[in-house]
Amino acid sequence: MPFRVWNPWRSQPPSAPAPGGEIARLAADPRVHALFDWFLRHERDIAELQLAITAIPAPPFGEQPRAEWLGHRFQQLGLVASTDAAGNLLAARAGLDSGSAIAFSAHLDTVFPAGTPLNVRREHNRLLGPGIGDNGSGLAALWALAAALHDCSIVTRRPLLFVANTGEEGEGNLRGVRHLYRAHLPQPSGSVPPAPRQDDAPPPKIDALIALDGAGSDSIICQALGSRRFLVTIRGGGGHSWSDYGTPNPIHAAALAVAALYRIALPVQPRTTLNIGAIEGGTSVNTIPESVTFKVDMRSSDRICLDELEQQLRRTIVEACAEASAGAVHPGLRLSHAITLTGERPAGELPATSRLLAAVRAVDAQLGIRSEVLRASTDANIPLSLGLEALTLGAGGSGGGAHTLHEWFDPSGRALAFKRLTLLLLLLAGLPSAAEGESLAAGCEPGCESGCE
Ligand SMILES: [Zn+2]
Repeated sequence: MPFRVWNPWRSQPPSAPAPGGEIARLAADPRVHALFDWFLRHERDIAELQLAITAIPAPPFGEQPRAEWLGHRFQQLGLVASTDAAGNLLAARAGLDSGSAIAFSAHLDTVFPAGTPLNVRREHNRLLGPGIGDNGSGLAALWALAAALHDCSIVTRRPLLFVANTGEEGEGNLRGVRHLYRAHLPQPSGSVPPAPRQDDAPPPKIDALIALDGAGSDSIICQALGSRRFLVTIRGGGGHSWSDYGTPNPIHAAALAVAALYRIALPVQPRTTLNIGAIEGGTSVNTIPESVTFKVDMRSSDRICLDELEQQLRRTIVEACAEASAGAVHPGLRLSHAITLTGERPAGELPATSRLLAAVRAVDAQLGIRSEVLRASTDANIPLSLGLEALTLGAGGSGGGAHTLHEWFDPSGRALAFKRLTLLLLLLAGLPSAAEGESLAAGCEPGCESGCE
């Protein structure tokens, strides 16, 4: 069970009565059964869509082809789909009432650079290929929810917003969801907010965000793990391995630094981690390199631990450069360094009294799911850090090998997650009486009370 802090200052009284009675009413509604049946009858279509979208490369900052393809699929469901200035695909679905929407999101991007052979395929029960679960499964679930509502002619009380967002992985730094919540984000002091792009609609009003990410149906990620990412660059004069011997070597300093960083005793509680994820530099075997870079990822449930670890990183690089420069043939050849913050994901968590958490718990109780509250770094970090309602759920099935070329996804049992997401959607967005829903489908104005029965 991950570390959890109870912060009474952030707790609010539940804004809605306990949803237990409502969930039982929903679970007995024939329209809900029709939705459940839809998922069972369309498992093949959902898997085909998952294979197809995973086969479209979506490297960091290269998500547009996927967004366009999925936008077309949303349009086929009668939704108006558009992209915003951050590349997010937004598909709005009207409800009986206007007002803020219940948003479901899935990230478009993968960790794989452009040109990675994807080789997406099906073998027996398994779907294979890099990104098939993370986040082909989330994108497939996003489409399946919208398609089931469309095909079963379901009208919700509140509007819905389906978002296929950019920038969840790595250096994307949550830029898609950051943009979605731009109206809530504080501007750095002294900075002038950028002028909105002509084609960028005002930010949507979102009441709660449910991010769909990866496999599984029994976790609730409602605690946002904080993280910081750095690019470390070490530079020197470089030269010939024989004739310039004595010129300090940046790779030597990087090796000393990496070894020292892995000797840091990280706290187990609050859990804090450090990873060197990539290292690059050098020209040839007989060259003293001019530079080396490496990427550092640190995570913690506690911001103070991140502050301390960042200070240790900065001290370590200074010491490593000094040690590797000690043998320099003259002082002008000493190594220099730069440490650039390339990503920062804020921490936060859903209060235990949150209406959204109560809704998921009620759904899980109804379906007999023994769910586990987890802390992780996901798109939900942004709203959670702002004190807004959000969480991340799995898109069902099972999977493994995320972020590798050998990623797999097994859709067996995925219907349970679809039931979970459907009940949650209807609990939050509201399922009006069948008569009310029909009047809207017949073209009556929301709220019309005459002649529309
Ligand atoms: Zn993901």
